[in-house]
Amino acid sequence: MKNLKTILFLSLGLSFGQLTAQVDSTFLDAMKEQLAGVELVLTMVEKDFFIISSESGGNILVFVGNDGLTLVDTQWGVLGPRISEILEHISEKPVIRVINTHYHFDHVDGNIFFGQDGVPIIAHHNIQKRMAADQVLTPPFLILQSAYPRESLPTVTFGHSMTLYDSGEVIELFHFPNAHTDGDVVVHFKNADLYHCGDIFVTYGLPYVDEDNGGDIFVLMEAIEHLISVSGPETRFVPGHGPLCTVEDLKDYRDLLVSVRDQVTSCIREGLDMDDTLSRIKVDAGKEGIGLELTVRHMYRMAQKHDK
Ligand SMILES: [Zn+2]
Repeated sequence: MKNLKTILFLSLGLSFGQLTAQVDSTFLDAMKEQLAGVELVLTMVEKDFFIISSESGGNILVFVGNDGLTLVDTQWGVLGPRISEILEHISEKPVIRVINTHYHFDHVDGNIFFGQDGVPIIAHHNIQKRMAADQVLTPPFLILQSAYPRESLPTVTFGHSMTLYDSGEVIELFHFPNAHTDGDVVVHFKNADLYHCGDIFVTYGLPYVDEDNGGDIFVLMEAIEHLISVSGPETRFVPGHGPLCTVEDLKDYRDLLVSVRDQVTSCIREGLDMDDTLSRIKVDAGKEGIGLELTVRHMYRMAQKHDK
C-alpha cells in the first residue's frame, strides 16, 4: 500500500474518520472504478530494465530476458491491458514469469491478467496464503481484500529465499519476515545490482505497516539496515512507491525511522504513556507519510513488544 491517505482517500473523497469505523468491503471495487484514467509512466533504468509506475499502484519492475519478460509486481488487473501495451513498446516478447513482493492489492491485483496461460507467479508462502483468504488491512484502512480467485494466486512459493537464472542475470528473492507484512520479498537482480524492495521502502515519508498482518517497524528497520550494509554506491533501489533510488536515499529513509524510534524509546524510558509520547514526537515537515500519529502508536506498541 502506498500513501493511500492522499491518493486513494482523496480520489474517492474519503477521510480517515470514514474508514476507521468499520471494515470497508466496497472500497476496492470503488477504487477500481476510479483507475481507468490513471497515468502510467514508463522509466528506463538501463538496457533490459524498466519501471512502470502510477500514483495508484505499486511499482512494476520489468526485466527483459532472452525468452521473455519478468515482472516484479503487477499493479491492478483493470490496468492490465494498458500495462500490456506499454510492455509491447519495450519488447515483443511475452511475460514469462511474475514475482510478487507482498500480498497487498495494489501490488498483486494484476496477477489475474499477467498470470494467465500458465505463466508462473512466484511469491513467499505467506503471500499465497493471504491472497487465498479474505484479509482486512490494519487500521486506519480496514479495507477488506477478498480472497483472490485461483487464477490470481502464486503458483510457486518459497520460504527463506530463492534464486532464478535468466539470460546471464541472477535473480535473488529474499524473504524479510514481519516487516511491512509477514510476507515481504525483496528481489535483487544481482548483475545489474538493482533491487525491488516492495513496500518495506517507500519515498513518501513514514511508511504504512500492516501490523495486524504481521508487520513490525522494528523488523522493517532491520531489513533496511541489512540492505544498506550489502549495497554499494552504484546499487539502485526500486521502492514500492516512488522513483528509482540510491543507497543514499535508503539511508535518509533509515535516518527518518531511527529519529522517530529514538524519540519514542526515550519517552518510554521516561515512563511516558502513549498519549504523552504522542505529544512529544516531532518529524520533519513533509516526512509524515502515512501519518506521525499512526507511526508513533505502532512504534510504541512494538517497542514494548521488543522490550526496547
Ligand atoms: Zn503494501
